[in-house]
Amino acid sequence: MPTEPSIASDEEFIQTVLKQVEEQLRRSLSEGKPQTLDEIEKEVGEIGAEITRALQAEKLRKRGNGYCGSFRGCSCGGSARFRGFFTRQVTTLHGRSGITRAYYYCPVCKAGLHPLDSDLGVADEGHSLGVRSLLARLSCYLPYRVAAKEAELLRNIELSHSTVQRVSLQAGEQLIRDWKQSQSDLWAERLPDPERRVFQLHLTSDGVMVNVGKEWREAKLGIAYERGACGGVERIGYYSTLANSSEFGKYWRTLGYKMGAGKCRQLAVVADGAEWIWMEVGKYFPTSIQILDYYHAVEHLWVLAHSYFGEGSKEAADWMERQKSLLLKDKIAEVIAEIGAWTFSSESKSAINQRELAYFRKHEHRMQYKTFRDKGLHIGSGVAEAGCKATVQARMKGTGMRWEHRGAEAMLKLRAAWCSEQNTDFADIIRRADNSA
Ligand SMILES: [Zn+2]
Repeated sequence: MPTEPSIASDEEFIQTVLKQVEEQLRRSLSEGKPQTLDEIEKEVGEIGAEITRALQAEKLRKRGNGYCGSFRGCSCGGSARFRGFFTRQVTTLHGRSGITRAYYYCPVCKAGLHPLDSDLGVADEGHSLGVRSLLARLSCYLPYRVAAKEAELLRNIELSHSTVQRVSLQAGEQLIRDWKQSQSDLWAERLPDPERRVFQLHLTSDGVMVNVGKEWREAKLGIAYERGACGGVERIGYYSTLANSSEFGKYWRTLGYKMGAGKCRQLAVVADGAEWIWMEVGKYFPTSIQILDYYHAVEHLWVLAHSYFGEGSKEAADWMERQKSLLLKDKIAEVIAEIGAWTFSSESKSAINQRELAYFRKHEHRMQYKTFRDKGLHIGSGVAEAGCKATVQARMKGTGMRWEHRGAEAMLKLRAAWCSEQNTDFADIIRRADNSA
């Protein structure tokens, strides 16, 4: 009959630790030479760490070894037989500890059981929730290998980069499930509005190419934000995916509603001329104020100016100054009328003119820049461009960085979450991921 390892009584443990600490404290306080701040920091840290390690080991020991007789029931209905005690390492933020626990084997379903592991809630690799939250957080802004090294340097815990990758994937996939849930809640009109009433909300979107599965794929980024008092961004939310535009649109809508689009007084979409963006806007934000990014409009005017007046000419520059000021006065109709009256001897130039003319006619209602500005709206999609750099590019496009589809999709969700809210509760995400496994 196996016996439990002998457990010193609490009182014995306390007395042993107190004695050690007492000695350390006496030694520390009687230090003869004056210490620098750095020396004090190092010394007190070491004393604290020693107590923490001893207490962690003792508390784990007090959990016993999970032995509950020669047989125990298995979830398959069979009976698992005790096979012996085995030791494994568990890792918390305070370091590694060995735990010795009973092992049972079920001959019916051929499953091995460690009752203590389940009681302690030890995940497969024996990393605590604290460790895994830290890894998920680090992986948001560091390549897996660097994140593993940082964890080692910060917390003195040795981990492999594949552990970081697994934890990161687990957290990212939970966020994917969360988004799906929010999307279906919105569909069922169960998605709660934000607590604070939002007066004005901007929506914007852009794409950036990422190397996924040995090819370049577009990661689409959806943004919803509130403009701050000084014109910048006060509160921002991101959603990013490799999915196609119609799939993206559903989640962009979800993001918008999570950020307050449902009840806000002024909802505006500012974006470049990409056809797919306006299609999704038409589907999901039909009553929004639509704004074509002013700088894209100006670029298109430059194409015309070069074609009509000659590249680099003073006439082109002068004409552009006038058009820009017309645009900012809500006089896009005048601009269109002038371009429409131009005639060209060259067929290719005439084709450019027709193409650009069609562009301006199509987006005319999205170019009422004075009206938009008077409402306090952004007329440029700078937030989308900056967002692509900060959210996608900064983590997804390092030198030689290649992604598998699954990992990329998960990381895009993590990045979006972390860039939206740096206080993101990773422990909560991982706990939910464990529960849904
Ligand atoms: Zn079984």
